[in-house]
Order: sequence, then C-alpha cells, then structure tokens
Amino acid sequence: MKQQSAIVIGAGIVGLATARALALQGYGVTVIERTEKAIGASIRNFGMVWPIGQPDGKLYNRALRSRQIWKEIADSIGLWYEEAGSLHVATETDEWQVLQELHHHFSGNGRNTQLLSTEQISQKFSGIQTQRLLGGLYSDTELIVDPREAISSIPAYLEEYLDVTFLWQKQVNRVETDRVYLGQQVLQADLICICSGADFETLYPEIFANTDITRCKLQMLRYLSDKADQRIGTSVCGGLSLIHYHSFQSAPSLPALKKRYETEMTEYLKWGIHVMVSQNSGGELTVGDSHEYGHTLDPFDRAEINRLIMDYLDRFMITEDWKLVQSWNGIYPKMTNGQTEVLLNPEPGVYILNGLGGAGMTLSFGLAEEFAAGL
Ligand SMILES: Cc1cc2nc3c(=O)[nH]c(=O)nc-3n(C[C@H](O)[C@H](O)[C@H](O)COP(=O)(O)OP(=O)(O)OC[C@H]3O[C@@H](n4cnc5c(N)ncnc54)[C@H](O)[C@@H]3O)c2cc1C
Repeated sequence: MKQQSAIVIGAGIVGLATARALALQGYGVTVIERTEKAIGASIRNFGMVWPIGQPDGKLYNRALRSRQIWKEIADSIGLWYEEAGSLHVATETDEWQVLQELHHHFSGNGRNTQLLSTEQISQKFSGIQTQRLLGGLYSDTELIVDPREAISSIPAYLEEYLDVTFLWQKQVNRVETDRVYLGQQVLQADLICICSGADFETLYPEIFANTDITRCKLQMLRYLSDKADQRIGTSVCGGLSLIHYHSFQSAPSLPALKKRYETEMTEYLKWGIHVMVSQNSGGELTVGDSHEYGHTLDPFDRAEINRLIMDYLDRFMITEDWKLVQSWNGIYPKMTNGQTEVLLNPEPGVYILNGLGGAGMTLSFGLAEEFAAGL
C-alpha cells in the first residue's frame, strides 16, 4: 500500500510534535518553515515542562505524557534537561495558606507534592532569599529543557529517526485540500497540518476572524550570576503565580488572595505579571514574565515591566550579583473562550492546531499524539 503523505506548516514546538506523531502513525512527513530556523514563541520561553500548572484529568495526563516524550527525545540525542521540579514560595500568610490547601488537594489526587519549611528550602536549594519566606510547595514532576537548544535540535532528530523532511525558508501562502502553495511552487500531500503559532492570519484568515483567539505578549529577562556554577536546584515561582495557573483554583482561599493582590498589587495585575525563574545548563537564569493581550501588540518593551518583575523577584531570590545578559519579548496565540487549544478542519484533509497559550512546551507532544491517533 502507498504510504500516506503529510505536510506540517511551522517548525515551532506544535509543528515538531505534530510531525513526530504523524511520522509514528506511518505518514511520510514534510515540515515547511518560513524562516531559516524557528524563532517564534518556542525558542523564547522558559523551557518549563510544567504539569503542576495543569488541572487534574485530561490536561494533567497530557502534560505527563509530553514530559515522557521530552525525556525520550532528549535521551536519544543528548539534549540537556533537568528534572528540577518546581518550588512555589510564600512570603505572606495568605499565600502560605493557599500552598497548604494545594498540597492537601494535590496529595489527595495522586500528585507528589511536599510542603517545605524555610529551613528545608535553604538546605535543599541555593540562591533563595529566605528572610521573608514562610515556606514553599515543592513538586517533583516539572522538567526544564533549554528551548533554544531543543527547538534547533529536534528537527535533526526527526530527520534521523523518523525520516521527516524539512524545507526551511519557505513561506506557505495558500492551502487547499491536498496542496500547499509556496509562491509559484505547489506541493501535494494527503494531509496538511497548519501549526503557524502567532501568525494565524496568513492562512485561512476568514476562519480565524471567527475564532475566539487573540495574542499575548510576554517580556522576559536573562541573567548570569557571578556564581554561574551555582545551581538553584529547581525552578522557583513567587506568590503571584498562584493566581496564574488553572490547577491552583482548587484552593478555597485563592479568591481572597486574589482580592488582596487586586488591592495591593495593582501595577502587577495591570501588566499580568507573575514571577518565575528557571536555570539552564550554562547557569543562565531566565526570568519573567508579563501578559499583554490584543491582536496588535506594542512592539516595544517597557522598562517599567522589567523593573516590577525584578523588584518582585528580590522578595524570594538573592539577586545582588546577577548581571542582565538579555531581554526579549515573545508572543503566543491564546484562546479567549477558556479552551486550551483549537483544532479546526477548514477543508477535507486540512487541519489547524493552534492556541496552546502559555503551555505549548508542556502540552504539545501529548496533544499531537492524541490528534494523530484520532485521524
Ligand atoms: C515568553 C514565553 C514564555 C513561555 N514559557 C513557557 C513555558 O515555560 N512552558 C510552556 O509550556 N510554554 C511556555 N510558553 C508557551 C509556548 O512557548 C507556546 O505555547 C509554543 O511555543 C507555541 O508553539 P507554536 O509552534 O504554536 O508557535 P511558534 O513557536 O511561534 O511556531 C510557529 C512557526 O510557524 C511558522 N510559520 C507561521 N506561518 C507560516 C507560514 N505561512 N509558512 C511557513 N511557516 C510559517 C513560524 O515562522 C514559526 O516558526 C511561553 C511562551 C512565551 C512567548
């Protein structure tokens, strides 16, 4: 029987995960990417593979499956990753209350979390500012990858292990059932998957005009400590992250905490700031972030947002000897109707996978497998 062919448009994490899943289903896959290498949201993130942020059930399981795939790929090609887990810290009593409730909820649902005292935190990790600390919630399921290394290496893995072909610097400007147009050139395939990330207007603009989707811009910073060889040992998040992830809504005291933030942290909430730090293999510390929503976003970064992020980080990290090495912004598509992704089928044999918001590194591999299995 003739092998079925598939074209995937976009070599960000969603496109790479889709290419992998389709190749494993037996498709002959070609990935087409507009730029010389992918430079979208997938290389601009923290590299946090973050099951703790996902609600129990389907999404949590999808995150765990993705984590497993990340490890399989990384182990095959020697990609760096760290099973660093995550530490959410409390510097105020209402945050500590929420962490205790979350621990109770998570433990009852089979998740492996631990409440740590300030003393345990300083013994287990380094670089954490313990002066104001009341304690923390540690989870061992979170993984850190280096997105810049991963997104440039996974194509070679897909070529070598799964026979996927990549066409770089080719812009797809039209898609129809069983064909894509690259300017004058036409390529045919049985299946076409569009994984175009924040550029959701070039192809099927009329479909996107009627889809509940927008963009979100995030500001990010990268630091290097004078003690670059010092490992924090985990990824650390401050109290503001508690109102950011859906999985934390199970804490009964969360609404009261949110209300306090709304009164006392107005500037932070205005820019959607919560503060997290992850460390890569070279010791660099990636810090963020803010959330500004809209179809057309301000292209310029605000120094004020970076200052707010760093002021907040000082509450729970010792940053005196950190030097700023880079700052940037990233943009991801985000559903406005509460859905965690969008899967559209605008014509026979053409699918659009998009809208994974701030969880693409965490969910793409699992989602793509579910998609391919359902074809
Ligand atoms: C600052 C920041 C921090 C984040 N942190 C995390 C995190 O720690 N953990 C996590 O799970 N998620 C995180 N996310 C979310 C995650 O990065 C995104 O969900 C994910 O990268 C989206 O992947 P994508 O493949 O849809 O988009 P992209 O990575 O943007 O890829 C889309 C690709 O499609 C190509 N393309 C578009 N149109 C065409 C066309 N017509 N022809 C050819 N090529 C085309 C583009 O050039 C691009 O390379 C973060 C996002 C940002 C911005």
